[in-house]
Amino acid sequence: MPKASDTRRNFSAAVKRAAWQHCNGRCQDCTAPVAAGSFIYDHIVPWELTRNSSLANCQVLCLTCDDDKTYGRDIPMIAEADRKADFHLGITGPGRGRCPIPCGRSSRWSKPIGGCRTAATAANRLPATT
Ligand SMILES: [Zn+2]
Repeated sequence: MPKASDTRRNFSAAVKRAAWQHCNGRCQDCTAPVAAGSFIYDHIVPWELTRNSSLANCQVLCLTCDDDKTYGRDIPMIAEADRKADFHLGITGPGRGRCPIPCGRSSRWSKPIGGCRTAATAANRLPATT
């Protein structure tokens, strides 16, 4: 059973103060100086994956680095984790295996191009050459 502090999405004031002291007024990715309004407290590993808002998972980033991290790494990582979790539960992509393309390879109604579907019987197979 997670504690209430484990399910908190935002950092507490104590964690923010400690992270700010740790960063010395600089972005922890590009080391650019940051001031009020030009930085953000960021989860190093996305909160959606860890539910961890402790100091160990907190960093100060400038807004540019935060955008790069969020859209370049965090969102794809969260989406991949969701896909893997769905795959583990037997949930596949939309339409996969449930709604095949009409007359496609996996359709029940597939037929050869320019011809009718015929059952392969011994009568219409080519005789074996020996
Ligand atoms: Zn930065």
